[in-house]
Amino acid sequence: TKWVYGFGDGKAEGEQGMKNLLGGKGANLAEMSNLGLPVPPGFTITTEVCTYYYANERTYPPELKGQVEAALAEIGRITGKAFGDARNPLLVSVRSGARASMPGMMDTVLNLGLNDTTVAAVAAASNNERFAWDSYRRFITMFSDVVLGVDHGHFEEILDTYKERKGYVLDTDLQAGDWKTLVGQYKALVLEELGKPFPEDPQEQLWGAVGAVFASWMNARAITYRSLHNIPAEWGTGVNVQAMVFGNRGDTSATGVAFTRNPSTGEHALYGEFLINAQGEDVVAGIRTPQPISKAAAQAGASNKPSMEEAMPAAFAEFVGITKVLEKHYRDMQDIEFTVEDNKLWMLQTRSGKRTAKASLRIAVEMAKEGLISEEEAVGRVDPAALDQLLHPTIDPKAERIEIARGLPASPGAASGEIVFTSEEAEAGKAAGKTVILVRQETSPEDIKGMLAASGILTRLGGMTSHAAVVARGWGKPCVSGAGSIRVDGASGTLMAGGKTYKKGDVITIDGSTGQVLAGKIAMVQPELSGEFAELMAWADGVRRMKVRTNAETPADARQARQFGAEGIGLCRTEHMFFDEGRIVAMREMILADDEKGRRAALAKLLPMQREDFRQLFEIMSGLPVTIRLLDPPLHEFLPHSEEEIAEVAAAMGASAAKLKSRAQELHEFNPMLGFRGCRLAIAFPEIAEMQARAIFEAAVEAAASTGQPVTPEIMVPLVATRTELDLVKARIDAMAQAVEKEKGVKLVYQVGTMIELPRAAIRAGEIAESAEFFSFGTNDLTQTTIGISRDDAASFLGTYVQKGIFATDPFVSIDQEGVGALVEIGVERGRKQRANLKLGICGEHGGDPASIAFCERSGLDYVSCSPFRVPIARLAAAQAAL
Ligand code: ADP
Ligand code: MG
Ligand code: MG
Repeated sequence: TKWVYGFGDGKAEGEQGMKNLLGGKGANLAEMSNLGLPVPPGFTITTEVCTYYYANERTYPPELKGQVEAALAEIGRITGKAFGDARNPLLVSVRSGARASMPGMMDTVLNLGLNDTTVAAVAAASNNERFAWDSYRRFITMFSDVVLGVDHGHFEEILDTYKERKGYVLDTDLQAGDWKTLVGQYKALVLEELGKPFPEDPQEQLWGAVGAVFASWMNARAITYRSLHNIPAEWGTGVNVQAMVFGNRGDTSATGVAFTRNPSTGEHALYGEFLINAQGEDVVAGIRTPQPISKAAAQAGASNKPSMEEAMPAAFAEFVGITKVLEKHYRDMQDIEFTVEDNKLWMLQTRSGKRTAKASLRIAVEMAKEGLISEEEAVGRVDPAALDQLLHPTIDPKAERIEIARGLPASPGAASGEIVFTSEEAEAGKAAGKTVILVRQETSPEDIKGMLAASGILTRLGGMTSHAAVVARGWGKPCVSGAGSIRVDGASGTLMAGGKTYKKGDVITIDGSTGQVLAGKIAMVQPELSGEFAELMAWADGVRRMKVRTNAETPADARQARQFGAEGIGLCRTEHMFFDEGRIVAMREMILADDEKGRRAALAKLLPMQREDFRQLFEIMSGLPVTIRLLDPPLHEFLPHSEEEIAEVAAAMGASAAKLKSRAQELHEFNPMLGFRGCRLAIAFPEIAEMQARAIFEAAVEAAASTGQPVTPEIMVPLVATRTELDLVKARIDAMAQAVEKEKGVKLVYQVGTMIELPRAAIRAGEIAESAEFFSFGTNDLTQTTIGISRDDAASFLGTYVQKGIFATDPFVSIDQEGVGALVEIGVERGRKQRANLKLGICGEHGGDPASIAFCERSGLDYVSCSPFRVPIARLAAAQAAL
């Protein structure tokens, strides 16, 4: 087997496409060599060796040693040096390289091959003693730290003490003799720490470093990173061994990093930093402040040190040319590492650069316009989930920020508002027309209503995947979680932050994109939905097959969704319209009435309000489809709880409080989730469905007149398990349609369909489709009823389930394709077989989840429906699913 792949000198045994075998770094080093770029020669030990290593009790394949020796000899041939040679020693770097860049892996070891003999040879050959000893001390530090496990801090302590004693400030103050002394002290430290001398034998050094790379694949940091990013342990890492080039050889040498475009704004301009007379990680380590590489950037930053363009014009010009070659070749923005040794440029790494959502959008659109990629590729380049960051109001960049605490950027966007400490306070504040920030130690499902009412959420505890963070992201609400420095005292109603005490009603601002908590109210800027965003969305719309609708019941949500490009309403939850102040009493009257007459009297009060709700929605949607779901939730959700509330309803009904209480008790349910809800309400109390149908039809007539657009309401019956249920409710709706037609002298066009949210409904979809003109898969309930877990109670064990690999992801976030998804597929197939033009959609939270949207595309649904802020995400995800 071939375990080792060489590169350098304008050619390579590997190439870009071999990332699985060579790792990302190795494959790209090979590719750059193939392109004829100046890459120090080297070789890659394949990821298969890593696999072998773990399958065989941490041993290597027998052929490996020979292959490494041959590859080293080849580097020697190209460089004219020899590894371990006493007069002309080859020094190498040993670099890890997994398929995907992976923090947690072993850090790179530079200058390997140095020992007391070779350091002298390097000094003589370079005629630069300081450089040789500087390299040696760096090597001892790095190798001891990452291979031998002697903490970095010890070496720093020795260095600091030495500098202090000598009165030195900068590392550059140290001369050859100083480094020599320090090397002696470093070695003494290693001997003391390990009871063994620092290894002088270059072979031992090399195999020590190679072994450390493979061993680091299974260290705790790497394992955690893999589990967070779904990287399988089987992938393994490669090891790259490469001839050293030296950026620390004096003022004609340097090392640097660059992006071919600005990774935070996306601007098409070379963006990078470099340091003269430095090596490796010095640039990012922050020991010295690096310089911009281009002259313009250096001047803009008002720096007095020369840019690379000024200090090393020839190397800079060559570098600029190479960045263009690389970007054109890889057809993506590149993140590049380079070194200049004695004015000669060397390329050390290239890869696709990480970027912000904003930059990702701009780069994709501009590259398509430049002709570098196609418009469809541009659509495929932007992560739909990242769009979330761009859709929210953000703090005006010109505004002053007074930071009072900092937590995690848990959900993007910013909000200013009055502090509240409980869910009830949040709801009350919202009802009073205030903007509030809910401040909690942490949140739990009981806080849901308050979180919904709040404009932003701040917690002291919890990480990026805490309840608060997950829920907030789902709603597109800003959230800062884990702000550990704040003190929250809900009982006394105080927040301590930044040395100040804030009370309920005091105003703060949170920035969910940075994790900052800020004092006072701050000016916001609205998201930019034109420009590149609009362009990319237009391309996406040209590609996608599925329509994207929204889940909305308020005019504000409906308008927001249309701005985001929603093509109709896929789910209007009418019960949300009854929680409003002024309606809830009538609603309670209706529920608590003990006969039909009483119910009808209460419903008559609700009718005009419902009609008005629907008229507004129809007008905003102006001709686009609107699916209205009949009343669904368990009745007990509307029941009065406090004595006050009971008295209020009693007064309105002219009944006694005692009687009301006993009626409320009758309605108590042990398991409301599976109780008296959905179409069961409409079947027991048909007058409710009749009132709603009347409101819908009358509103449709009014809106058609006011907009001049035909309105075709889609009336959806929830929680159907059998066709008979649907038929019973449909009969009432049809009768009401005829009544309204007669009264108004118009012809109504409408559809009656059903939610598919019970396994039985999916299985009997063929039969149900005889009556239903459309299906909307209610995958929230379908997930609960298929897996048999309640969404509101799952928090206590779902995390464990995901951790133990029982679920790959939370099935309420991303649809369980094999289980719940199979039922959707059955529903689609059986439904369409019965009724070829059956309209099919999805309206659960999954409608806004890219992976679930891809599943919907494969299942042949006609549309997805999601919350307003997820509409653009769904448009892009639907386009990518269709590519
Ligand atoms: P990481 O994966 O953490 O970026 P690298 O393997 O890229 O680690 O190494 C870090 C830095 O070490 C590089 O950016 C480069 O500056 C330096 N480096 C690595 N190999 C060499 C080499 N052969 N010659 C000179 N510098 C090198
Ligand atoms: Mg590193
Ligand atoms: Mg690197």
